[in-house]
Amino acid sequence: MPEPAFRRIIVKISGEALSGPESFGIHQPTLERIAADLAAARALPVTIGVVVGGGNIFRGVEVSGRGVPRTTGDTMGMLATVMNALALEAALEMPQVCELYTRQRATKHLAEGRIVLFAGGTGNPYFTTDTTAVLRAAEMGCDGVLKATNVDGVYSADPKRDPNAKRFEALTHQEAIARDLRVMDTTAFALARENHMPIIVFSIRDAGAVTAVFRGEGRATRVG
Ligand code: UDP
Repeated sequence: MPEPAFRRIIVKISGEALSGPESFGIHQPTLERIAADLAAARALPVTIGVVVGGGNIFRGVEVSGRGVPRTTGDTMGMLATVMNALALEAALEMPQVCELYTRQRATKHLAEGRIVLFAGGTGNPYFTTDTTAVLRAAEMGCDGVLKATNVDGVYSADPKRDPNAKRFEALTHQEAIARDLRVMDTTAFALARENHMPIIVFSIRDAGAVTAVFRGEGRATRVG
């Protein structure tokens, strides 16, 4: 992959990435490795915001129709993102927690060289933290979104299930939507398309993965 000319980006870390080898919750060694990776990337001339998911703890859609209304379930999911952000904040040893989000304040923190963690999703049900990542990236004037996953890019099918799944080097937003590639939801891709926001999908399983993407090293798929 050629070196991306990113100067300000949002790194989207899914809940699944934080659970490491476990199927639920936070795997502390994995959390610490990701925090160290983010801290190391600060040495580069790049400004970093982080959107944290919550799927390792709770997803609203999973309880919808089982006694919990979707909107309540989604609020629970958004609280899960706050839990993950607090754990990541502790691992990053950051000085300040839980400031109410305003675009101006977040922009100021980024300009002062801090890593800003965006928790709580968009604050609305029926959305995901992938959409949140693209939204915050657009609001913060970012050059792109780095979508950290457990696989090294976008495939035509789930590579864990289909041995014939083909990996893409690059795709347009429109192709990702038309092919119904499930790496991100359609709302996130559509918002990225409207804002000409490239999304780099990469694996965060190896130490140094974030820095490697900034340097244009390692395997990743560029969408857009
Ligand atoms: N969520 C929401 N609105 C948002 C972002 C998230 O309602 O703007 C809820 C939703 O229930 C979602 C859960 O929070 O399933 C966790 O977020 P997500 O599924 O995006 O986490 P990830 O898959 O990245 O771990």
